[in-house]
Amino acid sequence: MLTGKNYVGNKLSANGDVVFTTLNPKLNIKNSVHFTEASDDEINEAVKIADIAFDEFKGKSNLERAKFLNAIADEILALDSELIDVYMSETGLPEGRAIGERGRTIGQLRNFAALLEEGSWVDARIDTAIPDREPIPKADLRKMNVAIGPIVVFGASNFPLAYSTAGGDTASALAAGCPVIVKVHPMHAGTSELVGSAIVKAAEKTGMPNGVFSNLNSKGIELGRKLVSHPKIKGVGFTGSIKGGRALYNLAAARPEPIPVFAEMGSINPVVILPEYLANNASSIGKTYAGSITLGAGQFCTNPGLILCVNGDKLNEFLTVLSSEIEQAAPQCMLHPLIKTNFLNANVMMQQQKGVEVIASYGDSVDANYASQVVARVSGDEFLNNPNLHHEVFGPYSLVVVCDDAEQMEEILRGLEGQLTGTILGEVNEISRFSGVVSTLQNRVGRVIFNGVPTGVEVCPSMLHGGPYPASTDSRFTAVGTDSIKRWVRPLSFQNWPNEMLPKELKNENPLNIIRKVDNLDTKNSIS
Ligand code: NAP
Repeated sequence: MLTGKNYVGNKLSANGDVVFTTLNPKLNIKNSVHFTEASDDEINEAVKIADIAFDEFKGKSNLERAKFLNAIADEILALDSELIDVYMSETGLPEGRAIGERGRTIGQLRNFAALLEEGSWVDARIDTAIPDREPIPKADLRKMNVAIGPIVVFGASNFPLAYSTAGGDTASALAAGCPVIVKVHPMHAGTSELVGSAIVKAAEKTGMPNGVFSNLNSKGIELGRKLVSHPKIKGVGFTGSIKGGRALYNLAAARPEPIPVFAEMGSINPVVILPEYLANNASSIGKTYAGSITLGAGQFCTNPGLILCVNGDKLNEFLTVLSSEIEQAAPQCMLHPLIKTNFLNANVMMQQQKGVEVIASYGDSVDANYASQVVARVSGDEFLNNPNLHHEVFGPYSLVVVCDDAEQMEEILRGLEGQLTGTILGEVNEISRFSGVVSTLQNRVGRVIFNGVPTGVEVCPSMLHGGPYPASTDSRFTAVGTDSIKRWVRPLSFQNWPNEMLPKELKNENPLNIIRKVDNLDTKNSIS
């Protein structure tokens, strides 16, 4: 049952004065539970016990941490319909989505558990000594990844389970051996508390130190700023707006000891339709893309917000089908009135831009907090001259840019900010004629999709969910998939350490049987 309290480590606590509620956007009424924002004392206590827990937690074996992650997954499942009901009451998202997202959350936790059980993720490298090397002997050097310390996670409003309290950032940080303090997203505080209770239970059952996890309620940005500024915090995971992510990035960089902020801030995900493909598939692209634009009320960071095509014969057929599908699709509830207001304001801003013409819209007769989907068009010339048109409209919106030719398309892509994804819709035989477009697109994005849609992010090791700024603050890392663990580790090199004092991962006999690079060769062999 929900209490509205914070988890400061394993203890429920509510000493603060600021109280808030969540909102049921479908019914447009406040939910009944009152959540208490964490006080300064509670913030400091959560950081203090996270810092104390760090040494013990990072010293737990891979198998012990894997047990912890699997136990979190089990405890989340045990919450059963209570979690699904609270999730739906705080987000307006349907039951199928809630169950699907829970499955994804559990899958991510179990993926990280499997990664730990296998063990090679630490990327062990060993260069053995050459005592008789001339002119000077070579030392024995061994390197592996180690956890960086307590992490603050800012959950995403649009993924209350999979990218929030026990989502990708938390799962990857705990897997790495970093304690986590979650700054609760105020729109789904109840979901967060329930998931937090599952993590606390799992920590107790598997013998993890108190402080390995805290869940702090907050309404407003101050609590998050205090956490990021705290000297004992060593890293930040964030999913949300560019404004919020950039503010936290600047704050972290201005600390006496700067720390990394891995912020995934979304993008407009350009889709390029090449002429021959358009001619052959005009109608089906229109249908498929109407579905992608409206999926989940467009509240995905991979929503296709920009569609580039060249003026030609079948353009009208594509636009007619896209428009008719957009006009017929049932409007969906958005996550929160604030998200809806942002959506409406961004729509108005776009419509005020020179040359932008709305070609399809559901219309204004939608219930409170529901989004009326919109597709607009503009010429390549206008787009090139107006950076306002690059802005993300978070929701079911897409802008079709009709270019004069491939050169203009390429110029537009070259001028775009960094993106999470880029999509090419093309016939295989026409790709070579558009190599400049393809190459320019690849330079701007983290994932390039061929003949598909950008929505739908597979969770697997080869997924890259990130991209050049501002899609993310560091294009070398992913927020999805097991490689996301790399955000929370740093390499530590051991020089000439006695074998018995080395971590198991680096010992001569390779007791964990992991893959290591020994004298430049990948091997599981022991070192004689
Ligand atoms: P947000 O406003 O960026 O907030 C995300 C989290 O960061 C919240 O917990 C928020 O705290 C905190 N935060 C925001 N600005 C901060 C600052 N300057 N300092 C410290 N903490 C800060 O995102 P949101 O609430 O999820 O949605 C708002 C808008 O963000 C949407 O309308 C949309 O435009 C965009 N968005 C984009 C994506 C994407 O993937 N592209 C995803 C989600 C949202 P409080 O809420 O407590 O203030």
